[in-house]
Amino acid sequence: MEAGATTPVVAFIGLGVMGLPMVTNLHRSGTAVTGYDLSPAARNAAGERGIPVADDLGALLEQSDVVVTMLPNTPHVESVVHGADGVLARSAPGTLMVDMSSISPQGTLAIHSALQERQIRFVDAPVSGGVKGAVAGTLSVMAGGDADSVERARAILQPMSSRITHMGPVGTGQATKVCNQVAVAINIQAVCEAFTLGRALGVDLGRLREAMMGGATASWVLDNLGPQMLAGDDSAGFRIVLQVKDLRLALDAAADAGAPLPAASGVLNMYLEAVAHGEGGNGNQALSRVYERLANRDIARP
Ligand code: NAD
Repeated sequence: MEAGATTPVVAFIGLGVMGLPMVTNLHRSGTAVTGYDLSPAARNAAGERGIPVADDLGALLEQSDVVVTMLPNTPHVESVVHGADGVLARSAPGTLMVDMSSISPQGTLAIHSALQERQIRFVDAPVSGGVKGAVAGTLSVMAGGDADSVERARAILQPMSSRITHMGPVGTGQATKVCNQVAVAINIQAVCEAFTLGRALGVDLGRLREAMMGGATASWVLDNLGPQMLAGDDSAGFRIVLQVKDLRLALDAAADAGAPLPAASGVLNMYLEAVAHGEGGNGNQALSRVYERLANRDIARP
């Protein structure tokens, strides 16, 4: 199909924890979308939901005029762009690529340069809102790209999101996302620390959370992850290894730009302690376990 056609044909690459509910919402909206993932199990899970799935990436790219990626990190997106069956080799000029993964802002600029040489349009569009937002179709999208490309991407992004903020040119979406991750991670640390103190003082932690939700510290983290911390529920959600990846991306970008991030450095080290304890697959709220070790007592159980 020609680029710019009114009913785009979309390839959605990366059907993991986030990609699967996102592609489900896109499919439900009536968009002609086909999913692809390296993992046969992920492809099967999408197929079981009635989503068309391809097992030949190159052929899928040749038939698609929009390519959406939701992959773990920069090298994964680079491999889908530069691989033998990737976007540069198989997508037609005029194709729009929308990368919704959280990857390096600097790497994003390099990907954009390579795509520009083939006249492939590019929007970086990472998201915030977690699995809950992905399932509900209420993600916040931080988009970087020229106005025409972002406008073209909007029809694809809308069924997955409740807010699309056009931040500026390519790269500004990922720059926004690393800022967002710094604030989320430090917010998680702040909640863990408040609970640790409350526990030590003998405060009822459920009521502490309730009181805080009515005041100046109310937040998405306290609302959504606070109950999991108190229940001792470490399940993911957003895995600790991905949080480590995002904090590293933020600190790399900060080093290049000369921005001091003392609190983000501190919380990264605490997450690395969790990884060292074999907890990298836990949800990022399980930073509470690191605090439990520091305090030598369990936040969840008195
Ligand atoms: P995930 O690991 O669950 O899913 C990634 C999927 O990509 C996997 O199914 C994997 O098989 C597939 N994949 C890897 N390399 C591939 C390749 N070359 N070609 C095709 N498929 C490939 O990760 P996720 O939790 O869905 O996160 C995806 C991205 O979204 C990450 O950048 C993450 O930081 C970001 N993110 C996650 C959350 C969350 O709550 N999980 C929230 C916001 C943003």
